[in-house]
Amino acid sequence: LLRAVAIRKSFGGNEVLRGIDLTVRQGEVVCLIGASGSGKSTLLRCLDLLEVLDDGDIWLDGREITDPRVDVDEVRRSIGIVFQAYNLFPHLSVLRNITLGPIKARGTSGADARARAHALLERVGLSEKSGAYPDSLSGGQQQRVALARAIAMDPQVLLLDEITSALDPMLVGEVLDVIRGLRADGMTIVMATHEMTFAREVADRIVFMADGQIEESGPPEQIFTAPNSPRTAEFLARHL
Ligand code: ATP
Ligand code: MG
Repeated sequence: LLRAVAIRKSFGGNEVLRGIDLTVRQGEVVCLIGASGSGKSTLLRCLDLLEVLDDGDIWLDGREITDPRVDVDEVRRSIGIVFQAYNLFPHLSVLRNITLGPIKARGTSGADARARAHALLERVGLSEKSGAYPDSLSGGQQQRVALARAIAMDPQVLLLDEITSALDPMLVGEVLDVIRGLRADGMTIVMATHEMTFAREVADRIVFMADGQIEESGPPEQIFTAPNSPRTAEFLARHL
């Protein structure tokens, strides 16, 4: 479904992605792990076309989205992305946060968008919060609204960047539950995470990044119990 081929990205003289090849199948959940600065966020931003590549290309559903003739805004509507924090529009209610994208970018009617938003809020366990404003919600509730907002756009793929790392440990579980539900529904997900236990449980594949390259990739059981690379083993020894 999503394929990155030999992508490279530098900031100034600092080469942050040094030839990444990644293929994500329909319905697959891929977890990116690796040390701080290894390039996980940059890779996700490149996949969402928030960064311009220095080299390589990206394909979504058989189409090269890095082709300069492609309409970036149109592509980005079919890719959902949720960041660590500050995802919601503070001046809009929860309901409006979720309906804004479908109404503005997809031309969905207000009534349809609201009906869908209520269904999504129920799904993330926040039915009673549709009229609330983001700053009256806990961090975990805000992230669940952010997930609902991303899903409301019916993305082909969902990119998640450390969406639990700003949260109190008590609130992490409720956000991870939503991701479990999305996985069960067959959503294609690429997520950067420091939650190794969760990655092991939910991922179909773990991708370990080091210094802007994919050092090793494989099923969670293999990566966590029998990594091929000494660097992977060393990283896991420090993070499990
Ligand atoms: P973390 O686990 O801390 O989130 P990461 O794996 O997501 O780390 P990135 O955020 O992708 O790492 O950063 C990789 C490198 O790229 C870092 O050295 C960072 O300083 C650099 N970098 C990222 N974005 C920019 C930018 N906009 N301008 C300059 N350098 C950047
Ligand atoms: Mg990051």
